[in-house]
Amino acid sequence: MPRRLGILGGTFDPVHIGHLRIAEEAMETLGFDEVVFVPVALPPHKPERNVLSFENRWRMLQLAIADNPRFRLSDIELRMPGKSYTVNTLKRLHKENPGAELFFLVGCDAFFEMGSWHEFRDIFGLACIVVLYRPECDQAEILAFLTEKVSGAYEPVPGTCQIRHPRLCSVFQLLNTRLDISSTMIREMIGAGRSIRYLVPDTVWSYIGKNALYRRDAGRPPFELARDGDA
Ligand code: ATP
Ligand code: MG
Repeated sequence: MPRRLGILGGTFDPVHIGHLRIAEEAMETLGFDEVVFVPVALPPHKPERNVLSFENRWRMLQLAIADNPRFRLSDIELRMPGKSYTVNTLKRLHKENPGAELFFLVGCDAFFEMGSWHEFRDIFGLACIVVLYRPECDQAEILAFLTEKVSGAYEPVPGTCQIRHPRLCSVFQLLNTRLDISSTMIREMIGAGRSIRYLVPDTVWSYIGKNALYRRDAGRPPFELARDGDA
């Protein structure tokens, strides 16, 4: 049997339990040998805001996956020149893992944006796509998207979550636990002085705290309790 690798690409700014849980559930359901986390070096789609340094995002991922021997971290996008395009990352991953079957994990939000990704049609020949609930996702919509944007020859395999194609790789819809958590939400909560404990692994929570990441008010306590006598 060829090795099956799940690939989870993302900005991971910061990594949170939503990312870890989808990796775990996809690995279990689809029988991956490993899940490779691939942090984006230069995000092509996020020019509108400052993304935290690669080093900080990498360190948090290292802490987050440290206790799972089947989770691996790849600096492949740092090693490739220019913008990080998924199509190039997948080609490179095939070279570095000869004979492996690749399964690219993607939340529904990102899946329906794939039509704007660089050489996106090629992606569907390089890896099976695993679409994750975030929070909802309809198989009919996934099929309509594939038919319109990629090829008219996709068809669902009855009674399963697989959508098959005669030449391209299959697309799977994972019936994963809905965890309505995003990095944006975490950054905003920290900015507002709120606790993010238990939304990220403890080690990541400590790292963010120690390094005062994402804080608008570095140096001030997150909020002050009203004292007796205050109005
Ligand atoms: P941001 O809010 O900054 O976009 P994010 O939480 O979406 O951050 P990304 O690094 O952009 O995290 O996501 C990487 C991949 O993980 C994407 O495919 C995204 O759809 C998926 N993903 C992230 N969080 C979840 C979640 N809670 N449930 C399902 N998929 C998720
Ligand atoms: Mg996102």
